[in-house]
Amino acid sequence: ITFSDLGLKEPINKALVDLGYESPTVIQQKAIPQIISSKDDLKAFAQTGTGKTAAFSLPIVEQVDENSNHTQAIILSPTRELAVQIGKNIEDFSKYIPNLNVTTVYGGANIEQQIRQLKKGVQIVVGTPGRTVDLIRRRALKLNNVDWLVLDEADEMLNMGFKEELDKVLEATPDTKQTLLFSATFPREVEAIAKNYMENPVEITS
Ligand code: AMP
Repeated sequence: ITFSDLGLKEPINKALVDLGYESPTVIQQKAIPQIISSKDDLKAFAQTGTGKTAAFSLPIVEQVDENSNHTQAIILSPTRELAVQIGKNIEDFSKYIPNLNVTTVYGGANIEQQIRQLKKGVQIVVGTPGRTVDLIRRRALKLNNVDWLVLDEADEMLNMGFKEELDKVLEATPDTKQTLLFSATFPREVEAIAKNYMENPVEITS
C-alpha cells in the first residue's frame, strides 16, 4: 500500500516523495482514509514513533481550504518542542500547496510576534495549551471557523495539568468540528475528555 492509495492529492504525494516517505505506517493507513471520508470524531491509541503526526496532519492538509484565511485546524500538543516539530512537518507536507499557512504558538516566546503571524491569516495553528488560551483571550486567535481540533498526546497534556486549558479551547470551537484525540494511554482523565467532548468516536490503534 502506498500513500497514493490513501487518496491524497498530487502536491501532497510529491512532498512525501521528497521526504522519503514510501509507505504509510499502520496508524496512517487507518487514520488517513477515515478522517478524509468521515466527519466522525476519532480516538487513536498511538505512541510517539508510530507516525501519528502524519496520521492527523495529512488529512488536514488534504482538506483545508487554502484560499480562505480562517483558522480551520487547531492542533494542541503538550510541549514547545513537539509543537514546533508538528509545525515543521506540516510545512513539509504542504510545501507544494501555495497559500497554505501554518503557525506554531507556544509560551516563553514573544507573543506580539505570534499575534502578527496570526493576523496574516493562517489556516492551521499548532499550539501549546497555555499560550493558545492566552491568544484566544486576547482575541488574536479565533476558533469559530475550526473544522478540525487535534489533541495530540492527550495523556501528557493532562499529566502536565492542562485540563482547564483544554476545556477552554474545546469550548472556543464550534460543535460541528471533528475532534481527533491521540494518546498513548487512556487513563480516566483522558476518557473523561473523550466522553465530554466527543460523540460516538471511531477508535483505532497503531
Ligand atoms: P511520529 O510518530 O509522528 O513522531 O513520527 C516518527 C518518525 O517517523 C518521524 O521522524 C517521521 O518523520 C517518520 N515517519 C512518519 N511516517 C513515516 C512514513 N510513512 N515513512 C517514513 N517515515 C515516516
